[in-house]
Order: sequence, then C-alpha cells, then structure tokens
Amino acid sequence: MNNHAVVIGAGLGGLATAIRLANSGWKVTVLEQGSRPGGKLNRFERGGHVFDTGPSLITLPHVFARLFELAGADFYSELEPQRLDPLFEYRFGPDRRLTYSSQLPDLTSEFERFSGDRDDVDGLYRFLELGARLYDLSEKTFFARPPLAKPRLQDLGLLLSAPKRHAWGNYRKAVRTHFSSPEIRKIFERYPTYVGASPADAVGTLALIPYMELAFGGWYIPGGLYQIVETLHRLAAQAGVQFEFDAEVESIETVGGKVTQLTDSQGRSHRADIVVSNADPAVMHSLSDDRVGRKLDHDQRSMSGFVMLLGLNGKAEGLRHHTVCFSDDYDREFDQIFKERRFPDDPTVYVNIPSRTDESVAPAGDESVFIMANAPADPDAWTPEFEAEAAQRVRDRLARSGMPDFFSGAKFVECSNPARLEADYAAPGGSIYGQVSHGWKGTFFRPSLNDKRAKNLFYVGGGTHPGGGTPTVLMSAEIVTEMIGEPGQ
Ligand SMILES: Cc1cc2nc3c(=O)[nH]c(=O)nc-3n(C[C@H](O)[C@H](O)[C@H](O)COP(=O)(O)OP(=O)(O)OC[C@H]3O[C@@H](n4cnc5c(N)ncnc54)[C@H](O)[C@@H]3O)c2cc1C
Repeated sequence: MNNHAVVIGAGLGGLATAIRLANSGWKVTVLEQGSRPGGKLNRFERGGHVFDTGPSLITLPHVFARLFELAGADFYSELEPQRLDPLFEYRFGPDRRLTYSSQLPDLTSEFERFSGDRDDVDGLYRFLELGARLYDLSEKTFFARPPLAKPRLQDLGLLLSAPKRHAWGNYRKAVRTHFSSPEIRKIFERYPTYVGASPADAVGTLALIPYMELAFGGWYIPGGLYQIVETLHRLAAQAGVQFEFDAEVESIETVGGKVTQLTDSQGRSHRADIVVSNADPAVMHSLSDDRVGRKLDHDQRSMSGFVMLLGLNGKAEGLRHHTVCFSDDYDREFDQIFKERRFPDDPTVYVNIPSRTDESVAPAGDESVFIMANAPADPDAWTPEFEAEAAQRVRDRLARSGMPDFFSGAKFVECSNPARLEADYAAPGGSIYGQVSHGWKGTFFRPSLNDKRAKNLFYVGGGTHPGGGTPTVLMSAEIVTEMIGEPGQ
C-alpha cells in the first residue's frame, strides 16, 4: 500500500502532523536530528531547576485542545493550563510601571492611572476592536486555508468588510494612531516580536495578536510548557507513529518530480510515499540537487534571541511571572536589529520567572529565571567574548529598570544565542520564525505548504504558512494534513 509518510523533524508542527496523518490512516515515521522531540519548544534542567528554553506563554488554547481531542485526550484535564493574570509587568526605566491585566476592567483602570489621557483608554478599545475584526477574518481564511486558496463565497462578505487601511497598512503607524503615550505605544509595538518581526515593517494585521492574547488568554502549563511536547509524543506513539531520534536527514532523492527516498545521518535509507518537512523550507533547499524548498536570504530572516537561564538562590520577592524591561529608544533597537544587524546597545529585556507561579520548577525556596533579548539572526557574531558583552548589556538594562541583580550569586547561568539555535534546531541563521513577516508579501505569502518541484513534499511549522508561534504552527499542521488527505486519495 502507498501509505508511508515520513515527517522530517519532531518539533511541535512535526508532532501535530504525525498525529493527524496517523489518524487519517497513514503509516508515519518521524526522523528527528536531535535526541528528543520538541524542537524550539524544549526543556533544560539543572539541579532541580526546570526551564522552558523556548516558548513561555501560549495563546489560543482551543487550538491545542483540537489536536488533543483528535488524539483521544483532553487538553484541559491532561495539562491543567493556567490562565495568567496579570499577563505582564511592563517597566519603563526605574520608576514607571504598568501592570497589564488580562481582565479588561482592570486593564482599563490601569491605563487610566498610567496615562492620564482618556484617548489612550479609547485607543485601547478601538485597537482591540480592530484586532477582533482581523482575527475573525483570519480565523476563517488565513488561519484555516492555504494562502492562495480561492476565497469561499461565505467569506466574501468578511473580506469586503475587512478594515483594509489598517490590515494592509503599517503596524507601527496603526499603533501610533491609536495611542499617544510613548510607553503604551511601546507595549503594543512589541507584539510583532511574537512572530520575530519589527513593528516598523510589520503590517497592521498583526493587531490581532494583542486581541488574541486578551480575548483567549495567555496561558502557562504547570511543570513547564514542555509537558505539551511530552504528552503529544506519547499520544503520537500510541497512535502508532514511529520515532527515530539522532536521525538527521542529510539528503533527499527526487525522481520524476517526487521524493522517493531520504538518507539519514546513520546511513539509513527511508522510502516515502509522502514527506512532510518540519524543517524550514530553506533547510530542504540545501538537501536536494533538484533544489526543492525555498532559499532564505540573510535579510529575510525573522529575529533570533539571546537567552540566559539562571538558577537563583532564594526568592525573587515582589516580581511577577513575566516582566518586560523596555529599552529607552525602541525605534533604535529595531533599527539596530534589522538595519544594522547587530545586537542592540540597549536591549529590551524579557524576564520570565515561572517559579513565581509554579513551585515545581525550582528547588524549594529558590527561583528559575529565563531572560531573553531579541537579536538579529546572524550566528557568526556570537563568540564567547561577544556573548559576555551582550550579557553585560542585558544586566545594565535590568539595573536601569530597577530589577534585582540576578547574576551575582546565581547558582549557574546557561546561555543560548543565534548560533546555538541554528545548531540545535537547524533554524536558518538562528531565526526563530523562518521568513520574517514584513510587508504584506512576507506576511500573507509565506513559503507554501506544498513544494513547487516535488509533488509529494509538504511543509509544516513556523517557516511556512500561516507562520511562527505555537498556535499558528498547530494551524499549519491542520491545513497541511487536510491538503494531503487520506492515503490513496
Ligand atoms: C527563545 C524562544 C522563545 C519563544 N517564545 C514563544 C512564546 O512565548 N510563545 C509561542 O507561541 N512561541 C514562542 N516561540 C516560538 C515557538 O517555539 C516556535 O514557533 C515553534 O515551537 C516552532 O515549531 P515548529 O513546528 O516550526 O518546529 P521547530 O521547533 O523549528 O522544530 C523543527 C524540528 O526539525 C528538526 N530538524 C531540522 N532539520 C532536520 C533534518 N535535516 N533532519 C531531521 N530533523 C530536522 C529540528 O531538530 C527540530 O526539532 C519561541 C521560540 C524560542 C526559540
């Protein structure tokens, strides 16, 4: 029977696709270059400290629930996700702070207190309404179907009534027409970084992200988000999916416009009727003489990150689960990342302390701290000397934002950077979200889910449609498995 599917990569998209294909009757083998599943959604443990090395907050839990249900499990009772409130504390220098609640009445009062300008409160409602309209439209079109699918008759009304000026216009401009407080502008200008983009070049459609986060919540998984991966891995194995770890696909053979065979780093050959690559299309481009996949130029890469994991002695009293310490000049920070392609002099620093919410992820009385700053997806800069310099800039920003000095007295500091992201997960140049979502082309016409040169080769994950971030990766698996259908179709 022609029913053998090979999935390259056991990232979130690979796991979801494997489960969905097995459910449709395919015999599925997953080949993963690493020694365990998860890809960028991964875990690091030391001395009782447990860290999610990638995502720390998920949105759209119902998208996760859809996958779990298909695999015969209940997302909510299995993982007991926790809706966070507040979502963030935002810091602007040493004294100015805004607590960003996930409850609209609390958020409204906080905006009133913080800004003192009624227009900023009105702006919040108008911006969320814009996000809601864009989300409604995307959910039925962009999030549910391949990019070039013809609009269905029932979606035409939605498309015609879409807020076109903002949807296709510039994201930063959209924020600035809604808010006048420079600090509140920074809060909303940060959202494009959820897909590795700059607010200066992103399209207004991304206004749906702050709406999604408030409307559907920002969630944490007790024990760490890696529990999602462990559960999906178990559910996939129960569905009959075979996993091969430490099996990097090194070459693919195509005959007559079809992939016929793959060879892994252990010298084994794998026959396939269909192949779904969870590796970025740019990775596939380098694996075949037939030049399948899609080249990703240096300046088309989404952002990467500089991450530090710290095991702290003692509690970080008074701190929230999530804190963002903004740089003084946010415009300059994005210019440095995307135009000058260098790590910012004054980076905005994100501090995630899951042990504030969940005692199981640190030894009793201690904390596990994840610190991240955005960086260009250029791995070559990251020598040990440069990493030390970048860490100092992060410490300086934390100090200027009135944060405690986590570093002196920490039990350990474990760092990751663009070079490590590239080496560990084959992320092109360390980019977290593949092709950057800049301009309407970069956002709406991402590398396609089916290969143009090999008709049985498909793609899933952050590097393809609809884009990066955990819920969109799961949507990508939904769309691609529907395109593939059942064996023999
Ligand atoms: C620091 C950081 C913070 C993040 N924060 C968030 C967040 O808060 N919220 C959120 O929603 N998202 C966040 N993300 C993004 C999220 O992690 C990703 O969008 C998502 O996990 C990507 O899933 P994917 O399916 O694209 O696969 P990936 O994670 O990219 O996995 C691809 C897999 O393919 C394997 N592979 C590649 N090439 C080969 C080959 N030749 N042979 C075999 N295997 C191969 C890789 O080893 C990898 O396991 C974050 C990511 C990072 C790194």
